[in-house]
Amino acid sequence: MALPASPFTCRFAPSPNGRLHLGHAFSALVNVEAARRMGGTFLLRLEDIDTTRCRPEYARGILDDLAWLGIFPDAPVRRQSAHFAAYAAAIARLEAMGLVYPAFESRSQIAGAVIGLESATGRPAPRDPDGAPLVPFPRSAMTNAARAALRDQGAPFVVRLDMAASIAAVRDLGGGPLSWKEAQDVPEGPLKTVEADAARWGDVVLARKDVPTSYHLSVVVDDAAQGITHVIRGMDLYHATSVHVLLQRLLGLPTPAYHHHRLILDDSGYKLSKSNSATSLHALRAAGATSQDVLRRLQLASGARGEPAYPTPST
Ligand code: GLU
Repeated sequence: MALPASPFTCRFAPSPNGRLHLGHAFSALVNVEAARRMGGTFLLRLEDIDTTRCRPEYARGILDDLAWLGIFPDAPVRRQSAHFAAYAAAIARLEAMGLVYPAFESRSQIAGAVIGLESATGRPAPRDPDGAPLVPFPRSAMTNAARAALRDQGAPFVVRLDMAASIAAVRDLGGGPLSWKEAQDVPEGPLKTVEADAARWGDVVLARKDVPTSYHLSVVVDDAAQGITHVIRGMDLYHATSVHVLLQRLLGLPTPAYHHHRLILDDSGYKLSKSNSATSLHALRAAGATSQDVLRRLQLASGARGEPAYPTPST
């Protein structure tokens, strides 16, 4: 079915690997309310590429919880697990550009090398914006022929994006500096240009043997496939946007506008987690809360919204 053409199309894109919590409800509601105000389209996408952790009962739970809150998408739900061929095509395109390579170092080899590096330099190893150490094995450590031979032998590998080559390729393609437009205060608010800094992520993983795509790759393929004009999501994904705009440029996909909203924190100031069942919508409902209670708790029913706090792009 063709999606309704709309100048404002946004989406809520949870992963069905656990129950939705108040933070998800907030994100979904910020999307729905923006779509309503703009006369736009609200879509739902289930990010279920990790078939080992995602379960059908969680997917059903997401639809139930959203319905309980009165949230219904304007078009059929897109499930990423039905689109592995589209992600494979995107990887093949990057491969043809020479920008991805198979990497054979195991997690424990990487961890060991990071410890070695830290003890040799007496300093913490460089880390990505999520705090994970950058992989200390450069692409140049092995020839392309040696990598191809190992892959042909069936050795386990991940597919990594050659970050330096990708940034150079974007420069060669032209089109100006890598950046995105961030809506201020509200999703349809005034747009501010943010310069992307994808280099900080190092050679990110774009596919694994067991999961033949990644969050970064599938999110850009799907946002384009669903005609998303405004990506509205939590501030925890702010820095990931640098990788997303890089991939969009390389794959010839449009860059939507972005709005990264504030996160709902628990009483101790921590981000809510799927592993803490106390704040799950399911648990709140079972304890007798009504959807109005949840809306009130999120301060959305009255239209009162907390000030979004933006991370400074340089951090
Ligand atoms: N699936 C991601 C999550 O549950 C969100 C992806 C996005 O909004 O870009 O955190």
